[in-house]
Amino acid sequence: MDLIRLKNVEKRYKNGVTAIYDLNLAIEKGSFVFIIGGSGSGKSTLIKMLYREERPTKGQVIVGGLDVAKLRNKKVYKLRRKLGIVFQDYRLLPKLTVYENVAFAMECIGAKKDVIRKNVLKALEDVGLKNKVHDYPTNLSGGEQQRVAIARAIVNNPKLLLCDEPTGNLDPERSMEIMKVLDDINKNRGTTIIMATHDKEIVNKMKKQVITLKDGHLVNYKQKGTYVDESV
Ligand code: ADP
Repeated sequence: MDLIRLKNVEKRYKNGVTAIYDLNLAIEKGSFVFIIGGSGSGKSTLIKMLYREERPTKGQVIVGGLDVAKLRNKKVYKLRRKLGIVFQDYRLLPKLTVYENVAFAMECIGAKKDVIRKNVLKALEDVGLKNKVHDYPTNLSGGEQQRVAIARAIVNNPKLLLCDEPTGNLDPERSMEIMKVLDDINKNRGTTIIMATHDKEIVNKMKKQVITLKDGHLVNYKQKGTYVDESV
């Protein structure tokens, strides 16, 4: 079954730049998909349309059965509850501990304390940080901070995890640790993962599905792809 479907999607920003042209895409539940392409090729714009940070100017974006472009602002929470998001720059709250950072999202939706505790500890275990629950983000390495951000993104058991350049600030070794964590989440939790990156080494090592964008056009969609096209 498809978790995501894009039909004839175009995104033209107000300044006249078209970031995505006539994009058609179907992503099955449980997939792990890389979105690759050079800077300015439309990767972030595509990710942003999936969580309704941006609306398409034409076409349809369906995520988990929701017609995202048509969703009223008041109903965006319905979409956001289906997904978790990880960014390049972690975006943790510095005054909260690791546990509190991960618990925060669940507190916001009014979950019960015992459920929060169970989910937070499981999420931190899944990213290998159960021993750091009481630490503050500033005492953690970049790789560890990103793992906290991943735990926060999966704590509500979303169907979809969106990652926009999650290894962009990390060295190759830490990057591969993050990829192992994401691969385990995909395999063990069945979470669909979509990750924008321009890191060729990672894409070639992981052998996942690869969507290649170039100047806003989809130029390739491979099932077990590598980052071979040197021109993108
Ligand atoms: P990538 O993530 O692949 O680097 P982006 O999706 O960020 O690409 O950008 C695609 C194109 O859209 C670029 O030409 C960029 O300058 C433009 N763009 C991105 N965001 C905006 C915006 N908010 N307003 C206007 N143009 C934008």
